[in-house]
Amino acid sequence: MIVKTEAVILRSMRYRETSKIVTVFSRKFGKLRGIAKGARGPKSKFGAALEPMTFVSMVLYKHERRELHTISECEIVKLFPRLHADLNKINLGLIVVEFVEATVPEGEPSEAVFALLVEVLNELDLATKNIENVLYFFRLQILDLLGFRPTLHCCIRCRKKLVDIAPEEAAVSFEPRAGGVLCRNCSRLYPTRIRLRFQTVKLLRELLKRDASDVTTIELSDVSKKEMDEALALYARHHLVGLERLKTERVLRRLAV
Ligand SMILES: [Zn+2]
Repeated sequence: MIVKTEAVILRSMRYRETSKIVTVFSRKFGKLRGIAKGARGPKSKFGAALEPMTFVSMVLYKHERRELHTISECEIVKLFPRLHADLNKINLGLIVVEFVEATVPEGEPSEAVFALLVEVLNELDLATKNIENVLYFFRLQILDLLGFRPTLHCCIRCRKKLVDIAPEEAAVSFEPRAGGVLCRNCSRLYPTRIRLRFQTVKLLRELLKRDASDVTTIELSDVSKKEMDEALALYARHHLVGLERLKTERVLRRLAV
């Protein structure tokens, strides 16, 4: 079946002398792998269209019973030139695409995941300050889309509202495995809890609400960044099996930017 779809390139690997195998998140079919024959030849018609973090439109022959499809055409829709020209941005962008590659199941289309991916790459391209906030935003939003939105407004066990159980200046218990914050009473039952300042919990809530276009206006202290890194890395590790399965340690290390 010959199909056309927009896609974001997640990973690109050399294959044999002249070809490439790419993993993409496509708008119509979700995550899939395709082979681009002749993509590494000097006169390749694919040009830079198969580089990771590129938004493309592709034509592919989708095989019914095989996992590797054949890409016959691929054109750039958006290249994100500032993202590809800045080492720090490249590192953050690679974390984003590797995260999607490692965690999103194959063959399950999601308009929301596709839109988030394009939005986040676009924001990394445009951002001029607080660039790492885009990554925090991405991590929370993708957890939400994959069905693992953390509970941040009330105790995950007794459902008491957080404002009633902890003063704003206090630290709050957060239990990554159970999926959210805990009141003082319930926290004793969870030995693997970590402590977060109330302020950090509020930042996490903000990042779940905002559009990507405002996240770089938030100024984060080093303490908040450290707490968010720890909370999100532990949370993702407990909830996303793909992270355990695939090149786990590298992805997790890089999540803690
Ligand atoms: Zn409780």
